[in-house]
Amino acid sequence: MSTIILADLDGCIANNTVREQRASANARPGSDLWWDYFQDPKMIATDVPVRFSLNCAWLFKNRGYEIKYLSGRSSKTTVETGWWLKHYDYPDPTKLYLKSNFGEKDVEFKTKWAQSFLANNVIKYAIDNNEEIYRAYLKMGIDAILVETNSEDDWHKLMDDLITGKR
Ligand SMILES: [Mg+2]
Repeated sequence: MSTIILADLDGCIANNTVREQRASANARPGSDLWWDYFQDPKMIATDVPVRFSLNCAWLFKNRGYEIKYLSGRSSKTTVETGWWLKHYDYPDPTKLYLKSNFGEKDVEFKTKWAQSFLANNVIKYAIDNNEEIYRAYLKMGIDAILVETNSEDDWHKLMDDLITGKR
């Protein structure tokens, strides 16, 4: 049994503004083509870490928690996403849970995984920038944390809470 942290990637620890802009310059937002550009594995390297998320990740790790990156990002980006996490020195870069079925809603994909983790582990926190997913985690009894998209302020607050023992 492990104590785990579920962390989202896009808009949560990874600022993907460059990828998003490129997709929008090439295709109608929300179209299949837009998603193809957005999920292009070659573009993952243009993401930048949201400030203070790395500090929080290591504060979790130093408490003995295991971090699992649970994201609706396409599993086609698994190699590049693993590289990205390693490149920026995030802990547990191989603990990636990415979506392979594009027809599945993110909230379903994530609650399904969370449910299976709960069978043998304790989920300490689940962090996401999507309010629907945040609410779904709360409903499952998980201590979920909602961060605003690409918000270093929210990660900074979480870092303070971890350092001062509020969390
Ligand atoms: Mg997200």
